Amino acid sequence: MSDSKHRHKSVLKKTDEELLTDDLTHQLALHTRQGHNKFLSESIIPLMLCFACPFFVRSIVFICDHCHGSIHEFLQRLLFDHTLTLKDVLENFFFFKWHWPSAIIIIGFLIYAIIMTMLLPGDEYQGPITDTGHIPIYRNNGFCYYIVSLIIFTILTVVLKLNNLSPTYIYDQWDAFLSTVSTFAFLLCFCVMIKGKYMPSTNDHRSSSNWLTDFYRGVELYPRIFNIDVKLITNCRYGMLSWALLSVIFCMKTFELYGYTDSALITCILTLVYLTKFFWWESGYMKTIDIIVDRAGFYLCWGCLVWVSGIYTLPSYFLVTHPKQLGFQLTILILTLGLLSIYINYDCDRQKIQVRSTHGKCLIWGKPAKIIRAKYRLLNGKESESILLASGYWVLSRHFHYIPELALAFLWTCPCGFQYILPYFYVIILFILLMHRAHRDDQRCRLKYGDSWIKYCDLTPWKVWPKLY
Ligand code: NDP
Repeated sequence: MSDSKHRHKSVLKKTDEELLTDDLTHQLALHTRQGHNKFLSESIIPLMLCFACPFFVRSIVFICDHCHGSIHEFLQRLLFDHTLTLKDVLENFFFFKWHWPSAIIIIGFLIYAIIMTMLLPGDEYQGPITDTGHIPIYRNNGFCYYIVSLIIFTILTVVLKLNNLSPTYIYDQWDAFLSTVSTFAFLLCFCVMIKGKYMPSTNDHRSSSNWLTDFYRGVELYPRIFNIDVKLITNCRYGMLSWALLSVIFCMKTFELYGYTDSALITCILTLVYLTKFFWWESGYMKTIDIIVDRAGFYLCWGCLVWVSGIYTLPSYFLVTHPKQLGFQLTILILTLGLLSIYINYDCDRQKIQVRSTHGKCLIWGKPAKIIRAKYRLLNGKESESILLASGYWVLSRHFHYIPELALAFLWTCPCGFQYILPYFYVIILFILLMHRAHRDDQRCRLKYGDSWIKYCDLTPWKVWPKLY
C-alpha cells in the first residue's frame, strides 16, 4: 500500500524532463513494438506470411480455374481422389514464375504510372507531420491520373479489338500474370528494404538486424526514389488503378463469353465508382494508416501490388466462370445500396479531413463540430496538436467508416450468389483486416494522445460497431 502511495507521489513529482522522457518512451514504443514476443512476431510470423500469402493467392486462382471455384472439390481431389498430388500443389503454388509477356505489361504499366505521376499537373499539398518532424509533400494529380488512364485504356481496347486482340489476354494468362507480379513485387520490396537500410530518404526509418522483419514490415515510412514517392506509386498509381482496370477486363471477358451479364456489370460499376471516389479523395488517403503508420515493406507494397490484384478482384474474376442473371429489380437494389455505402464511407472520411483542414471551425451534420484538441510529443521533443472529431459519424463509433466499407464489399460480391464461399474471401479477409486495424489504431492513438484519447473513448465507447464492438 505504502509502496503504491510512494509510486503515486513520485509520478506527481515528475519533472518536465521525466515527463518528456515518458512521452518519448511512448512514442518509441510505437516504433519498436516493445513488449511483443520478438522471435514470434518479428521472425516466425513474417516468414510464414511471406510464404503463405503468395501460396494463398495462387491457390485461389487454381481453385477457380481447375476446381470450378469449389474448395470442397479442391480438397476432394487433393486428399481423396489423388488427381492432385502434393507435388502438383508445391510446383503450382510455390514456384516463382517469370512470364515475359506479363513482365513487360507489368513493368510498362509501372513506368507509365511513374511518368504520368511526374508529368500530370496538380497543386502541391502536405501530408501529416511525422514523429521526427518531417512533412511529406505530394502533387494532387491522382484524379487526373485516373481519368487519363481510363481514357487511354479505352483507346487501347478499341485499337486492340480492331486488330482482333483484346485486353482480356490478361485474364487468359491470369495465373502466369499474377505469379509474375508476385515475383516482381518480392524483388521490389527487397530493393526498397536495401535502399531504406543504406540510403533512407528521411529520418522516419527503422532498421534492425533482423532482415526478415525489415523485409516484412519495411524500413522507411516515406521512401522516395528520384523524388517519386514509392508508396504513392505502389498503393495508388499501380495498386488501385490495376484494381479498376482488372475489374473492367474481367467484366469484358464475361461479356465476350456470354454477352450482357448484369451480375458482372454490377460488380464492375460498384468497383469503378468506389475507385473513382478513391482517386477523388487520394490526398485524404495519403493521411491514413497505410501511409502514416505502415512502412514500405512486403505487408504494404506486396499487398498493394499482388493482394489487391488477386484477392480484391476475386468477385469479378469468379463471375467470368460463374455468370448470373439477376434481373432488373435486384440489379437496381444492389446498385442503390452499393452507391449509398460508397457515399457514407466517403462522407465519414470527408468529415475527418474537413474538421482538421478548418481547424475545427466547420459544421458537422448542421451543428458546429465537437472537437478535442489532443496534444502529443514528436520524437524530437517538440509538442504538437491534432484535432479529434467527436461528432457526426465519429461519435457513432471510432471507425464507423469500416461498416459501409464492409457492406460495399458484400454488395459487389453478392452477385456471385451464395453457392460458393470462395468469392467471399475478400469480404472475410477485409472483415478480419479492418477489425484488427481498428484495434491496432486504437492502441496507437492511446499511446500517442494519452488522456485526450481516453476522453474521446468516453464520448465514443465503440471501436467499430455501435453497441457491439
Ligand atoms: P482512418 O482514416 O480512420 O485513420 C485513422 C487515423 O485517423 C488515426 O490513426 C488518427 O490519426 C486519426 N483519427 C482517429 N480518430 C479520429 C477522430 N475522431 N478525428 C480525427 N482524426 C482521427 O483509418 P484507415 O486508414 O483505416 O481508413 C481510411 C479509409 O480507407 C477508410 O475509408 C477505410 O474504409 C478505407 N480502407 C479500405 C481498406 C480496403 O482494403 N478496402 C483497408 C483499410 C482502409 P492521427 O495520428 O492523424 O491522429
